[in-house]
This record gives sequence, C-alpha cells and structure tokens, in this order.
Amino acid sequence: MKRHALPWLIFFIVAQPLLAEVQQRFPKPDFQSGYQRPELQTPVPRALALEYLDVFVLAAALTASVVFAHRLRSRRALFMLMIFSLVYFGFWRKGCVCPVGSLQNVTLALFSPAYAIPLTVILFFALPLLTTLFFGRTFCASVCPLGAIQDAVIIKPISVPLPVRAVLSLLPYLYLGLAVLAAAVGAGFLICRYDPFVGFFRFSSSFRMIALGFSLLLLGTVVARPYCRFLCPYGVLLNWMSRLSKRHVRITPSRCINCRLCEASCPFDAIEKPSLQPTAAAASGRLILRFLLLTPLLILAGAFAFSQFDAPLARLHPRVALAADVLAEEKGGAATPAVRAFRSSGETPDELFADAAMIRNRFRRGGMLLGGFLGLVLSLKLIGLVAPSFRREYEIDRGECLSCGRCFSYCPVDKDGNTLFPIESLGNDSNAGKSV
Ligand code: SF4
Ligand code: SF4
Repeated sequence: MKRHALPWLIFFIVAQPLLAEVQQRFPKPDFQSGYQRPELQTPVPRALALEYLDVFVLAAALTASVVFAHRLRSRRALFMLMIFSLVYFGFWRKGCVCPVGSLQNVTLALFSPAYAIPLTVILFFALPLLTTLFFGRTFCASVCPLGAIQDAVIIKPISVPLPVRAVLSLLPYLYLGLAVLAAAVGAGFLICRYDPFVGFFRFSSSFRMIALGFSLLLLGTVVARPYCRFLCPYGVLLNWMSRLSKRHVRITPSRCINCRLCEASCPFDAIEKPSLQPTAAAASGRLILRFLLLTPLLILAGAFAFSQFDAPLARLHPRVALAADVLAEEKGGAATPAVRAFRSSGETPDELFADAAMIRNRFRRGGMLLGGFLGLVLSLKLIGLVAPSFRREYEIDRGECLSCGRCFSYCPVDKDGNTLFPIESLGNDSNAGKSV
C-alpha cells in the first residue's frame, strides 16, 4: 500500500502548480456596460506545496541571517542574502505573502469568525517576530524584500536630527493602528493597498503608487530606509521584540574602548554614544513625573480626537462607500456602476444604510481605541526622551538597529579584546562619514 502511495504523492505535489494554472484558464466573465475589473491586490493563489516551499525558504533565510549577523559578523554575507531575498520574496514571489502585510490577515482572523487564515500566513507572520525575539532584527537586515529594495539604493546617508526622528517615529504606530482598525472592521488591507514597492516587484501598479515608491527610493539615497524607519507597521512589532531580544548583535566582538570609530557608521542612527549624566537625574525625574501625570490626559485627548474621524475613516469600507454613492444618486447624482449593480441586487437602500451606520459605529469605537493607544505611545516616547541614560560605552539601540552589520568593521577590537593598531594613532579625527 505504502509502495503505491509514494508515486501518487509525488505526482500530486508536481501536478499542483499545473492544476492551479488550469483553474485560471476558464475565460473571465465578459462584463458589459463599461464595467472596470478591479485591480488585483495579490497575485493568483499558488499551490499549497509551493506555499510551504515559501515558508521553508523564509525559515532558511532567517536562520542564515542569524548565522551571518551573530556568528560570522559578515556584512558581505548579509548583503548577498539580502539580494537573494529581494529576488525571491520580491520579484519572484511578487511581495506576497509578506510578513509585513500578514499582520492584517492575523487581525482579520481574530475579529472575523468567517475568515479562515492559512497556516502558511500565520507562519509568515510569526517566524520573523520569533527570530527577532531571540536575535534582534536580522529579518530586516537581509530577509524583508521591502527593506532590501531600500537598502540597495542607500548612497550617501545623512543623520536625521533626533527631534525630527522623534516626531517621525510616531508615524508607524499611526499606520499600524489604522491598518489593524481597517482589517478588524473588514474595510480591507491598507498595508497591501498602499505598499509603495510592490508595484516594482510586479511591474504593474497605479501611477500614484509607482510615483510614491520612486519618491521613497529617491529619498532613501540620503535618508536610509525611510519606509522601514518612519512608516513600516510591522517594524513596530519587530522593534518591541528586538528590545526584548535575548541576544542582539553588538558593534564590538568583545569590549568597547570608546575610540569613536563606529560613532557615525550607522546609516540608521541606531548607535548611542556614552552618556554619564548623574547630575541630570533629578531634573529628569521631575519631567518623567509630569509626563506620567499627563498620560491619562493624552490618552483621553487621543481617544476623543480619533473618535471624531469616524466618517472619513468609515469611507475605507466598501459598504460605506457604496451607501454614500447610493445616497448621492438618490439626491440626483450620477449612478456609478457599483450603484447600478446594487440596484439590481434586490437589497433595499435602508438595509444598506443600516449596515453602513453599524460599520461607522465600529469605526467610532475603534477610533477611540486607536486614539487612546496613540496618546499612550506619545506619552511613553516623551518619557523615553527625558529619561536619564548611563551608558559607559557605544551601544546599539536594540529597537532601531536593523542588524545590518555595517558597523562591525569599524571596530578596531578583535574577538580576543586586542586592538588592531595603537589607539593613540587615531587622534580626534575618527568620525568619518556614514557607512553605505
Ligand atoms: S522595517 Fe518593515 S519594511 Fe523594513 S525591513 Fe523591517 S519589516 Fe521590512
Ligand atoms: S548593525 Fe550597526 S550599522 Fe547596522 S543598524 Fe545596527 S547599529 Fe546600525
């Protein structure tokens, strides 16, 4: 029995892609009257065996990234892996399924009992986070195709001033909150809809998205990885995991001698200088207390402000958008194809309007939660800015560091703690430009 099962199993696996293709060969419906086929947001489904192959490649790439960053400490190996990931997950797999977008599938699965999330998508969501929890953001260094396409265009990175970074670092939280809210309410997947690089991977997208992606790549020549640092919603989760990481890459393989050679080597401003400010601790304490007292106010203000955006946010949902079009048509406006389809569906406008009101109500409640969350994030960021730091040596900011390995070669100390040349020869001129 077992002898006969094996050839069938092999046949089944090999034939899966062909069967999947055959399913696509039936002619698509020929809609009349100017109907525009919606643009696909995801490539056509792949055979299950190939989806598991993607998971296997992801796991292998994550393992390799940990070995290259932690054991070999090789920027070259990380770079080669990054190029592979760009080709495989980006151009070959067309950026889907992607861990960044998978957080929306997970959200939808949590909020909608009707949605069955595939195991492969759960693995794409969880594997990079688990790896980061143990080893830092090696996923960002060389596995994420969105990170890779930006990394490949870094030419002359500049340092972004701390106040600007502090303000911009709120954007990923906002984007994460909006994406989770939209997915939870069933309004669609915002991260996929507004992915600026997927158009390059698929060689097709709207002019607007191509222009956005091109602008980000242009900006990325001087502000390294702008999407990763100031937009990526999955990066928020990776940042949290990385802060808790059990092991994280270090600039030096053994000890820091404060030679300053690595000070400007990070294009992502993720290296923190030594700072010993015991006298400032009392002043910081007072500021922290004030911000702590301010926290409930910020949460309430955020909750109130975002609950007021329910109408524009609800327009993201197709049912609410349709209800608005139907209402406009009833007031004498033109009937869009969607309205004409609705009129022939048999559903009454009252049913549609009731549905839209319910969805808007969900957005109002979700907006309150989102605003409260952002108020809390703002408060924690302010506390983080004024908290005293007692660093004796150059350290990596675990949350912001992308484990790219650029700074490794700047450290003159080898793994046995020996310096490669006399430190006195360095003088004060060790602060070279940013590493590319
Ligand atoms: S920050 Fe986001 S986009 Fe950038 S590499 Fe990490 S997961 Fe990818
Ligand atoms: S490994 Fe070094 S250069 Fe790379 S992101 Fe981390 S601190 Fe910056």
